[in-house]
Amino acid sequence: MPRNASYSGSFDEMPLSVQRAASVPRDWYDQALCRNDNGFVKWAWIAEEKITYKLGTQRIKGHVLHDLALTVCAICPVQWECALGAIQADERAGVWGERVDRLKFIANSPAQAAEARAMGFTVQEAVQRIATGIS
Ligand code: SF4
Repeated sequence: MPRNASYSGSFDEMPLSVQRAASVPRDWYDQALCRNDNGFVKWAWIAEEKITYKLGTQRIKGHVLHDLALTVCAICPVQWECALGAIQADERAGVWGERVDRLKFIANSPAQAAEARAMGFTVQEAVQRIATGIS
């Protein structure tokens, strides 16, 4: 997701959320589909669900933008690295392969998630399988 914020101050002075994010390896980020010019609205991944955004002459809800982001995430080659990094960084908002609130299913069931990953499931499929008790 386009979260390429820069910060020139000292690490200790960073907001805690930025410190958490900065502490997670992001060597996969060059492959992130949301980083490239994929024609999508860049901030679809960080939209606020309940806010209505203006796109040209159209108005679109944040949760609809998240749906659009999720279609890209589903084919992203680094979606597992992204989702696990978001869990590690304790991200609180946005889309990281899946809506952040749904990543709890992966965080709470790491063995099942690892198995789903090894079987080739997407992050969103793995979340769905864990949430519905499919093994
Ligand atoms: S899974 Fe989605 S949010 Fe994560 S890097 Fe890929 S496109 Fe971006």
